[in-house]
Amino acid sequence: MDHFVEVKNLKKYYPAKKKLFKERQFVKAVDDVSFFIDKGETFGVVGESGCGKSTLCKTMIRLIEPSDGKVFFDGKEIAFCSKEEMRLMRQKMQIVFQDPYASLNPRMTVRELIKAPLDVFSDESEEQKMEKVYEIMSLVGLNKEFINKYPHEFSGGQRQRIMIARALILKPEFVCCDEPVSALDVSVRAQVLNLMKELQQTLGLTYLFISHDLSVVRYLCDRIAVMYLGRIVEIADKDELYDNTLHPYTQCLISSIPIPDPDVKRDRIILEGDVPSPYNPPAGCHFHTRCRFATEKCSKSYPHLREIAPRHFVACHLYDEKEE
Ligand code: ADP
Ligand code: MG
Repeated sequence: MDHFVEVKNLKKYYPAKKKLFKERQFVKAVDDVSFFIDKGETFGVVGESGCGKSTLCKTMIRLIEPSDGKVFFDGKEIAFCSKEEMRLMRQKMQIVFQDPYASLNPRMTVRELIKAPLDVFSDESEEQKMEKVYEIMSLVGLNKEFINKYPHEFSGGQRQRIMIARALILKPEFVCCDEPVSALDVSVRAQVLNLMKELQQTLGLTYLFISHDLSVVRYLCDRIAVMYLGRIVEIADKDELYDNTLHPYTQCLISSIPIPDPDVKRDRIILEGDVPSPYNPPAGCHFHTRCRFATEKCSKSYPHLREIAPRHFVACHLYDEKEE
């Protein structure tokens, strides 16, 4: 079956800057990552800071060039297609970044900011473009009167609405959301998340939703992938991931979510040690240096992602015997 988005063995290696080593060393920011996303789905990617989430989403839509691997979008291979083909595809895929302040040009008005993608991609009249600008502003809950204001005149939540409007003005089919609420005050996070949920339904969007916060992905996503040091260690439907957590790293992440109800107690598994350096990730399973179940095998051979239960994939030697 064809999936709407399919990522196969995607890699992004950055050459290490310091010449401390004789052999050339690489930061394997994204290391052999494969997954698919179906149309209309919200696919979450969760993991600690530095594990490669932003690099994954930027390489997928080719804001940065991948080192290797394939990305299929609606059946078309885009990881290495020509510039012209990519220009056409670009309109169908958009990204919403974490920090709306850093990504909005402070010298542009709301009108210019939201209209910019149309100026690049559309040959409609100015009047038609402005009609679309107003339409999208009302859809994301921005008052028409804001049209001539500048980014600094807005709150964080409103700036993120401007970003969302700009990402949606070309009517994309696929939107990568890279920690879109992480920089926002807790009080406005829910509003922006709800807006994104509504927009998905209204516009039939497919989302890749990135966060370091499991409670955020749980709220929004249908399926979740857990990333650790450039690799995906587990993928499952949301409820399956929480009810039948397989990977020891996912278990640690889930056990550290605070429970709002003081009567419910959960054993917290403390993650020992630091995240290993991505310049020199441990051999075998990247997580073995912090894993309470690690055996010798885990330090030697890399466990590949395998489907252990229907639609539930895990990369862990603990489940090896179930393979036969
Ligand atoms: P996340 O979004 O999960 O926090 P990133 O994708 O930003 O992680 O980064 C993954 C790893 O790649 C980090 O170790 C980071 O330092 C490294 N990295 C990211 N961008 C670059 C770059 N342009 N050059 C070199 N290393 C980079
Ligand atoms: Mg990031």
